[in-house]
Amino acid sequence: MKKSYLQIICFSIFLLTSCNEKKLTEVVEVPLPSAIEKRTIGIPEDALADEGSFTLQKLPYKYESLAPVIDALTMELHYSKHYLSYTNALNRAIIGTEFEKLTIEEILKDLNPADVNLRNNAGGFYNHSLYFENLTPKFGTIPKDTLSSAIDRDFGSYDIFKKQFSDEAKKQFGSAWTWLIVDKSGKLIITSTANQDNPLMSFAVVKGTPILALDLWEHAYYLNYQQNRKNYIEAFFTIINWDKVQERYESTTIN
Ligand code: MN
Repeated sequence: MKKSYLQIICFSIFLLTSCNEKKLTEVVEVPLPSAIEKRTIGIPEDALADEGSFTLQKLPYKYESLAPVIDALTMELHYSKHYLSYTNALNRAIIGTEFEKLTIEEILKDLNPADVNLRNNAGGFYNHSLYFENLTPKFGTIPKDTLSSAIDRDFGSYDIFKKQFSDEAKKQFGSAWTWLIVDKSGKLIITSTANQDNPLMSFAVVKGTPILALDLWEHAYYLNYQQNRKNYIEAFFTIINWDKVQERYESTTIN
C-alpha cells in the first residue's frame, strides 16, 4: 500500500516535469535559408589581380546576366575565385623570369611541359580569358559571314558542327576543355585538352589557334547542373558570343 502510494507520487512528478519540459522546448520551426540564398552576389569590377604582368580580362556582362544557363553564384565564383587565382599564380610564377615580358600566347608556345606550375596557371589564365569573352547574355545567336561560311566548308553545316562539338565535349572524362581552333592551314577543327592545357602549347596533340572554348571543369556548372554535364553543354550553345568568335577567326586567318 505504501509502495503504490509512492509510485503514484513519483509518476505525478514525472508527468509534471515532462509537461514543463515539453512547454519549454516547444519551438516553431522556421526554414533556414540555403547556403546559396545567403550569398550576396558581388560585381566583377571588384575582382582584381595582384600586381603583375597579367590582369583579369574585364567581364563584359554581370554575374547574373547569363542566368538561367549559368547562375550568378557559379559565375561569381568562377571569375572572382578560380580565374583570379590562376592569374595571380601565373604572375607569381613568372616574376624575374624570361617570361615576364612575353605575351600569354608566347608563354604558352614556349613553356616546358615539365613546368607543371606554369603550365597549369598560364593555361588557366588564357583558357578562362577566352571562355568568359566567348559568352553573352544575348541568347540564341548563330555564326554569320566568313565564320558561317568556314563552318559550312569544314563541317558541312552549323548543325553538324554543333553536334560534333557537343559529342566531343560529352565524351571528355574529368576536368577538360573542348575547343574550336583554326589550324595552320586555316581549317576549323574541334579538339579537346585535359586539365588547363590548350592547343597553343607546343606539346598539344592537335595544335592551332583557339577561337571558342568550353570549360568542362565541374566548377563551371556543378551548382546548377550537378552531374548533368550534357545539359550544360547543350545550354552553352545558347550563350555563345559568335561576334567575338568571328572577330577571333578573322584576326587568326589574316595574320
Ligand atoms: Mn574554369
